[in-house]
Amino acid sequence: MDVKRSRSPRTPPDADDDKKRAAGWRGGLRPHVVLVGFLITLPILVFVFGGRWGSFASSYSSPSSTTASVPNVGGRHVVAGGVTTTRKTEAPKNDSAPTTSLSQDKLLGGLLSAAFEESSCQSRYKSSLYRKQSPFPLSPYLVQKLRKYEAYHKKCGPGTKRYRKAIEQLKAGRNVDNSECKYVVWFPCNGLGNRMLTIASTFLYALLSDRVLLMHVAPEQEGLFCEPFPGSSWVLPGGFPHNNPQNLHIGAPESYANMLKNNVIRNDDPGSVPASSLPPYVYLHVEQFRLKLSDNVFCDEDQLMLGKFNWMILKSDSYFAPALFLTPMYEKELAKMFPQKEAVFHHLGRYLFHPTNRVWGITRRYYEAYLARVDEKIGFQIRIFREKPIKFENMYDQLMRCIREQQLLPELGTAEPANTTADAGKVKAVLIASLYSGYYEKIRGMYYESPTKTGEIVAVYQPSHEEQQQYTSNEHNQKALAEIYLLSYCDKIAMSAWSTFGYVAYSFAGVKPWILLRPDWDKERSEVACVRSTSVEPCLHSPPILGCRAKKEVDVAAVKPYVRHCEDVGFGLKLFDN
Ligand code: GDP
Repeated sequence: MDVKRSRSPRTPPDADDDKKRAAGWRGGLRPHVVLVGFLITLPILVFVFGGRWGSFASSYSSPSSTTASVPNVGGRHVVAGGVTTTRKTEAPKNDSAPTTSLSQDKLLGGLLSAAFEESSCQSRYKSSLYRKQSPFPLSPYLVQKLRKYEAYHKKCGPGTKRYRKAIEQLKAGRNVDNSECKYVVWFPCNGLGNRMLTIASTFLYALLSDRVLLMHVAPEQEGLFCEPFPGSSWVLPGGFPHNNPQNLHIGAPESYANMLKNNVIRNDDPGSVPASSLPPYVYLHVEQFRLKLSDNVFCDEDQLMLGKFNWMILKSDSYFAPALFLTPMYEKELAKMFPQKEAVFHHLGRYLFHPTNRVWGITRRYYEAYLARVDEKIGFQIRIFREKPIKFENMYDQLMRCIREQQLLPELGTAEPANTTADAGKVKAVLIASLYSGYYEKIRGMYYESPTKTGEIVAVYQPSHEEQQQYTSNEHNQKALAEIYLLSYCDKIAMSAWSTFGYVAYSFAGVKPWILLRPDWDKERSEVACVRSTSVEPCLHSPPILGCRAKKEVDVAAVKPYVRHCEDVGFGLKLFDN
């Protein structure tokens, strides 16, 4: 609530003052009485509000954040002016303010740790202000689990005595029994979207299997993300003995599947195998092969064996979180963590990924310049894959069909409208993310040359058009990350099928996108322009074979009520809620 506007409009400020002046001190309290009263109440006020006044002032010093709003202990919001509410409060009429409520809980209902220095990573607290409040309530169990994990990471992470000891054991070629700390080391694969999905999957796996997540950060990924765990680091320190990504492939002798095949280990009676009898680390290859993930990963007996290794190296190109839901021993725990299954990446992504101040600067400047003041934001993400190229005219035509059928943008008119419709004068911003500029130019030209039937204004923007994917360029990845975030601030999203870049954006947003389907392999055009996703979860393109010991392929989408095939990848799997 805006304090300034809470004064009665019929009582001019001077009238109030005049009344007080007329009353003088005669009918009111005397100054010494006021002073004594104040001194008596001061300790009580300090006790009630504690140190929160300080953080209140520092948290909201940004010019774009003029509503005084701080989270209180119960995950509710205290809005200056004395109103305590969990509802969306009216944002002040500040033109540079984000269009969404500023009264959102800064820590996202407890998802984020309060233990960080805010200025070191501004996006952690500011990014969510550009989005609508999450439609998925957070489970208190997940919050508890994250705090526990953070303490574990701090205890065992880089720079600790325990970490040094674990590295010494690894170097000495020993896997010891009853180790206090266990680790999973993530290695990168493919582009940024893929990496974010696999980092989140690996983190979920770390939570379930009590491992500390460490990341091998390649130069192209340096300086993109803030540290997510307070008082520690998730970056794998230099000097890690098995640091060569070239050695991580399907044929690697250290891979779990190959160790089983070569009888280095067995998985028929995991309980009887002492950890100290195992090799010093295991490589878990979770990359797809012919659109399938390896067998012997998402089965209980394999998980029990894998759990005995103190060091695990993991490389993946797939969003394998849904496969963890299909591993019987993790089912119960996951149900407690995620009562709403489709919010897995939505919550973990918002917890883990915070662009550094440099990338946040790019994102924030663009948002404030072009998107902050519009009535609606619509994101189009167009991705053309090398394995299934689509001609520009065909892709453009498909996008236009989708826009028309789903009424994503106002129709063009022939004459200037008479500003009589309810929507006249409203501004819709179209944000285009694509490596190419053609879609932007055509759509912008269309709304430049013709009016809309409704009188709405359509403003079209594209932050960059890099022309080519550059996996190894740091600068290129900074722009890609900024664009993923900008897309995630959109109210509606339409995106190319199969794109992990788009998956991350809509999942952050908590928005079900329209997916522009890929034409069949033997066709140049897709008959259906786009379909609405049933869930905000990303798709696992390459499901594992889940028969486990039975070695029978099972269609899990037919068996598990919370898994279904993806709209864009027919054999893929996706978590969803009915
Ligand atoms: P996917 O290949 O669509 O699943 O997504 P990835 O993010 O894994 O890989 C694609 C990479 O190409 C991105 O990480 C970017 O480097 C680049 N790229 C693709 N589309 C865009 C785009 O619209 N904008 C920018 N800046 N980069 C893009």
